[in-house]
Amino acid sequence: MSTLPLVALALVLQQSPPVPEVRPPFSCGLAFPVSQAHDTGSHRHTDTWAWDFRMPEGTPITAAADGDVRLVRGDSARGGCDESFAPDANYVVLRHADGTETQYLHFLSVVVKAGQRVRAGELLGYAGKTGWACGAHLHFKVTRAGGEGWNNASIPARIAGHGDPEVDRLVDAGPCAPAPPDGPRWVRGPAQAQGVPAVALPPVP
Ligand SMILES: [Zn+2]
Repeated sequence: MSTLPLVALALVLQQSPPVPEVRPPFSCGLAFPVSQAHDTGSHRHTDTWAWDFRMPEGTPITAAADGDVRLVRGDSARGGCDESFAPDANYVVLRHADGTETQYLHFLSVVVKAGQRVRAGELLGYAGKTGWACGAHLHFKVTRAGGEGWNNASIPARIAGHGDPEVDRLVDAGPCAPAPPDGPRWVRGPAQAQGVPAVALPPVP
């Protein structure tokens, strides 16, 4: 085999960074549908590669990877189904060791502080509809760390176990360990460990 194909492969690998893979951004045991995917509706320009997940207000939102909390806003109570509400979103931006960030929008409330280190799966706050939101949902995207603002440009990414889910695809965060006994689907993990009341959620269709 000539070395030329290997050189070409090395160049391609050098020029295309691997597509980052992150965890589903909500608590184990839960599953929600993608309500908006890429390059459609409000997901254009810096938000082309974002996903929206329709979910009840109060759903625990969790870190999609280990990282540091770079920016947080949790003081907004304003939201509505119009672009003019876009500056009113509560948000969390995490910076990760691989040079990417994850951004989470529309929180009802946030429980982390800027500068805090979080582990994948750790509670960030609770889903809501602050900002440009026509109902409670999570807007989630992976970005390259770049500007110092809260809204860096999205990049293609994958969600572990789900690839790049399309609209209406149900994304589940996987079972909680140990598996819950028969009964209601209680939220487990960091939320309970930190003394936050558990939330019973309706069964997922
Ligand atoms: Zn969105």
